[in-house]
Amino acid sequence: MMTSHEIRRHFLDFFQSKQHLIVASAPLVAKNDPTLMFNNSGMAQFKDFFLGNGTPPSKRVADTQKCLRVSGKHNDLEDVGFDTYHHTMFEMLGNWSFGDYFKKEAITWAWELLTEVYKLPKDRLYVSVFQGDAKDNVPFDQEAFDLWKPIVGEDRIIYGNKKDNFWEMGDTGPCGPCSEIHVDLRTPEEIAEKSGKELVNADHPQVVEIWNLVFMQFNRKADGSLEPLPARHVDTGMGFERLCMAIQNKRSNYDTDVFTGTINVIEEISGIAYTAGTGMTDVAMRVIADHIRAVSFAIADGLVPSNAKAGYVIRRILRRAIRYGYSYLNLTEPFMTKLVPTLATQFADVFPELTAQRDFVATVIREEEISFLRTLGTGLGRLDQIIGQLTTEGKTEIPGETVFELNDTFGFPADLTALIAREKRLTIDEAGFSKALQEQKARSRKDASSLAGDWIDVNETDRVEFVGYDQPEAYAQIVKYRKI
Ligand code: ATP
Ligand code: MG
Ligand code: MG
Ligand code: MG
Repeated sequence: MMTSHEIRRHFLDFFQSKQHLIVASAPLVAKNDPTLMFNNSGMAQFKDFFLGNGTPPSKRVADTQKCLRVSGKHNDLEDVGFDTYHHTMFEMLGNWSFGDYFKKEAITWAWELLTEVYKLPKDRLYVSVFQGDAKDNVPFDQEAFDLWKPIVGEDRIIYGNKKDNFWEMGDTGPCGPCSEIHVDLRTPEEIAEKSGKELVNADHPQVVEIWNLVFMQFNRKADGSLEPLPARHVDTGMGFERLCMAIQNKRSNYDTDVFTGTINVIEEISGIAYTAGTGMTDVAMRVIADHIRAVSFAIADGLVPSNAKAGYVIRRILRRAIRYGYSYLNLTEPFMTKLVPTLATQFADVFPELTAQRDFVATVIREEEISFLRTLGTGLGRLDQIIGQLTTEGKTEIPGETVFELNDTFGFPADLTALIAREKRLTIDEAGFSKALQEQKARSRKDASSLAGDWIDVNETDRVEFVGYDQPEAYAQIVKYRKI
């Protein structure tokens, strides 16, 4: 079996053999970019070149970029742990052409790499091309269609809409159609039941998008019209962990060697076995295995958990993991800190910044854990008090506003409140809690409503739409998977 190390290396070697310069990942925390808090795609560090500011080190570049999608336009946090292929932090493999090659090479090479180097079966791959949008003046991507047709055949081509298959930097500026590659990893029995083509873009855990090829060929003007760009560019992004799942033929990113090392340590610490299912102990293990990466790499890149801006987002991610461990794995002593050495060793050759700061990262995490576990303790005390009072009054339900207040002030999540309430034969007013939460969300959404393109993002604490502790959507998603 090809290891994740080999998979990453083959990507870089392949593009090097096609005259690409291999560059290092930019830090997770976006530097010198007031429009972006975290790097959330491979192209973020090259943005200026597409805008015509500055000269790239080479017209062809490739790398693996550390990405974090927990705020602004790209926020995948709610899915993490519940689904098997969205992470907070992930690696995006990418190749770029700055005014050099265009669709033909990008498409041919992507296919060559996937089917000849990685040997993914051709009959498991689907591609999408942009279908056009008359309302928005953007044409069907005939060129991409004509290039794919002889390679995959017309019946493996999907026509994608503007949301999935058209990329724009913002309301104005460079933009263009995308062509995505999706892989169907279901069993032959499952495939016999339903064609993979129907499941592309349907949130199916085994029919997933792995690679997005963006072709920048237009410039959108302030009046909304498009003009051809003088120099056309290619920007591609492939999810490394998903690629590993496809090549190692697993049902989940967490079953690849990218994650199994960490999950093994979590099993050891908790004394609970991971069963790759949808139960809460498995969800908790996935959350922890995911979040420790985001937090460790962010700290290694110079961010410390705090009460403001990016530091606050990191603190909340860390607390989300601690809380899952606490509630579902009985981990009441610091444990996240113990996962750092495994990660540092695993990524020593790719991201040496973590190895170099291993002890510092572990210390920061341990301090956070100690303090948050104490808060959880305080919240528990307060809850005991509330329960005592309600019981004396002969009531059996904790009011929604109280549940919300516990959540807001003590970072004390509703499901934990419900769990404890149940032990005392009480219930919580879920509707009232949801209402209070929705009101809070509406307030932050109002502030964030101007988020449109990739670069009109957040940089102020109060505009960070962090939705960590509520789970109704995530549960809905599990139910959706079961139906498929
Ligand atoms: P999806 O539709 O699955 O959310 P996307 O269209 O938002 O993915 P892109 O912005 O096109 O993703 O990013 C390029 C690639 O990065 C995707 O094809 C996918 O393989 C990977 N990717 C995107 N988001 C994540 C994530 N949260 N975790 C892991 N990989 C991701
Ligand atoms: Mg997405
Ligand atoms: Mg997509
Ligand atoms: Mg995409």
